Amino acid sequence: MVVDFDGTLTLRDVGDEICDRFADPSWRDEERALARREVSMVAAQSRMWPLVRASPDALEAHVRAVGTLRSGAAELLDAGAAGEIDLVLASGGFDFYIEQLLAPWIERHAFRARYANRGRPEAGSVSVSFPHDDLRCAYCAVCKGRVVQRHRDGRPVVFVGDGVTDLCGARVASEVFAIRGGALASLAREEGIETTVIDTLWPVLERLRAIGHAR
Ligand SMILES: [Mg+2]
Repeated sequence: MVVDFDGTLTLRDVGDEICDRFADPSWRDEERALARREVSMVAAQSRMWPLVRASPDALEAHVRAVGTLRSGAAELLDAGAAGEIDLVLASGGFDFYIEQLLAPWIERHAFRARYANRGRPEAGSVSVSFPHDDLRCAYCAVCKGRVVQRHRDGRPVVFVGDGVTDLCGARVASEVFAIRGGALASLAREEGIETTVIDTLWPVLERLRAIGHAR
């Protein structure tokens, strides 16, 4: 399965929470343009993150404060670490906070693969780069549709997400779970993509166990 990070494994969008707390409010203009799909993720994120003013310690503390995992996420990650399910992480967010929040599971090799953008807290800000050129589309720096296609391996791919950039993944996945109230749930409905709307990750774990999704 392929799973999104911000707002899916976590309750809140950690990247947005960091910008909300530490960036000049003009970052929201970029966020709105992104939601309307008027600019690419690379263009918007390259303008947003230099607006952040924070020390590495302040960033780490804030990530801890806002990075609560969704119910069922720890168990889903445990199942990945046990090899019981095949887990791939596809995030349009940044590795520095993902690695902080998922450290116990990354140590246990819970993921077959992880894709995210690169962020380095330095010089009182966060410098960002986008290393996955091969996974880029016109809109996404890490296109979840390309990740789903890369990890299909002749098997059905379950996709779980919440946001506007998850639509690319939902379009090509075999089965889609969307977080209730997120943009993906409504966009998928508009496009006629069959979706199970969820509040927790427990139904995903149950489904993966039912279909037999070992790594
Ligand atoms: Mg998300």
